[in-house]
Amino acid sequence: MPLSTFSIATSHCLIGGRWAPCQSGETLDLIDPSDGATLCAIARGGASDIDAAVTAASTALSGDWGRATAAERGRILARIGVLVRDHTDELARIEAQDVGKPLSQARADVLALARYMEFYGGAADKVHGETIPYLDGYTVYTLREPHGVTGHIVPWNYPMQIIGRSVGAALAMGNACVLKPAEEACLTALAFAEIAQQAGLPDGALNVVPGLGAEAGAALSAHPGVHHLSFTGSVGTGKLIQKAAAENVVPVTLELGGKSPQVVFADADIDDALPFLVNAGIQNAGQTCSASSRILVQESRFAEVRDRMAERYGSLRVGPALSDPDVGPLVSLRQKEIVQGFLARGADLDCVAEGRIDADAPQGGAYVAPRLLVGAGPDHPLAQDEIFGPVQVLIPFTDEADAVAIANGTDYGLVASCWTADGARQFRMAKALRAGQVFLNNYGAGGGVELPFGGRGLSGHGREKGFEALYGFSVLKTVAARHG
Ligand code: NAD
Repeated sequence: MPLSTFSIATSHCLIGGRWAPCQSGETLDLIDPSDGATLCAIARGGASDIDAAVTAASTALSGDWGRATAAERGRILARIGVLVRDHTDELARIEAQDVGKPLSQARADVLALARYMEFYGGAADKVHGETIPYLDGYTVYTLREPHGVTGHIVPWNYPMQIIGRSVGAALAMGNACVLKPAEEACLTALAFAEIAQQAGLPDGALNVVPGLGAEAGAALSAHPGVHHLSFTGSVGTGKLIQKAAAENVVPVTLELGGKSPQVVFADADIDDALPFLVNAGIQNAGQTCSASSRILVQESRFAEVRDRMAERYGSLRVGPALSDPDVGPLVSLRQKEIVQGFLARGADLDCVAEGRIDADAPQGGAYVAPRLLVGAGPDHPLAQDEIFGPVQVLIPFTDEADAVAIANGTDYGLVASCWTADGARQFRMAKALRAGQVFLNNYGAGGGVELPFGGRGLSGHGREKGFEALYGFSVLKTVAARHG
């Protein structure tokens, strides 16, 4: 078991404050994508475990957790943040091994998780209702109340960050959570739950049931005792979850990835832009919902940007996560197959540069060399579909109108950026780009736990991060008192 200073068994679920195997006793192997070796066994939770977890969450709401004041909830979250920071190195190693994420990127994710706890800990008692002027003889005010039991279905690409932004905000508002981490990477979810217990989170406020999507995930999304669902992952699974939520008429937040463009105008500072252009495509081996997989460059500087990006690609080292390469393996051999399928569909494109896989990288690892591709028209499948691998396509454009048409010309709309020295154009582009977040002369703003995040179109709906998440994880009640 790799969780050395954590006491939990990796093959357990946490339900109502108690760690135990799932009811069937069945387990799944968790694979290290850097070498294909089995890391440990995890629980194969099923419908009965989810049912027990929902009951435990519901019980917590009528106990200490339900009675905790906003300030008390905030203090617990802040304590979780301190403990997460105390365990930075260990959590980073676990996440790196589990996801295949380069160690320094995993470390950044731990710090992001700590920041979510700090932010939502501080924000818990700062979400206020309002008084509304109404008829003579009335006083009207609003209350923000928790939904109740919230279900969190989390993917494998950024487990810590996604747990931070969804579970952190849900707990801050007083919900009780049932978390279903991904079967490919769930160890930091378990470690986080243990830390939350150490920080004094009451039993049942956070329950964790690992397992397969079609089993534990489907059971959670269909459970009538769940009052809100939060999902990050693929479009196909997101649709299933929205249908399940519709059956129970509960709200759902969906974050389903994207095909996010960076638009580079001829007047842009290319030196400044270059690291962002490349890093936004290869970070976490391109397995990032907000990855920038399309780089749109104005014709007059297309060749220059292509050549400079190619130079950077040529120096990218791909290797085992714990050796802290530029690019680690993909999360699994299955994901590698998906990405190779896309590359086969892009066989008609020119690969102008590719990264280098370490000669001694283990044979069983899920390695894919990053590739920079040109020659794709805006409608090419590789310029339209989310690849979720270290692949970027470079597309030329003529003028501002052409740039907007290409940038907005996919079914997605998660993130977009614009690189230009023209201030008026920055404002025009910020309005014209169809995306939940627009960055001007930067990309990603360093993660930004404070910045509301979410999609348009196939990228999903609802907002996480920042205060918006606190509104999403609460229900507004209007109280109208007639007192004469
Ligand atoms: P997925 O959407 O199937 O899995 C994400 C989570 O959903 C996991 O916890 C999984 O167990 C759960 N899940 C799966 N089927 C479910 C169901 N029927 N009901 C409830 N929960 C279910 O994604 P994947 O199969 O792991 O990856 C496939 C593709 O999805 C990737 O290539 C990528 O394009 C996309 N993806 C996007 C993100 C993102 O951050 N937006 C994250 C992971 C994957």
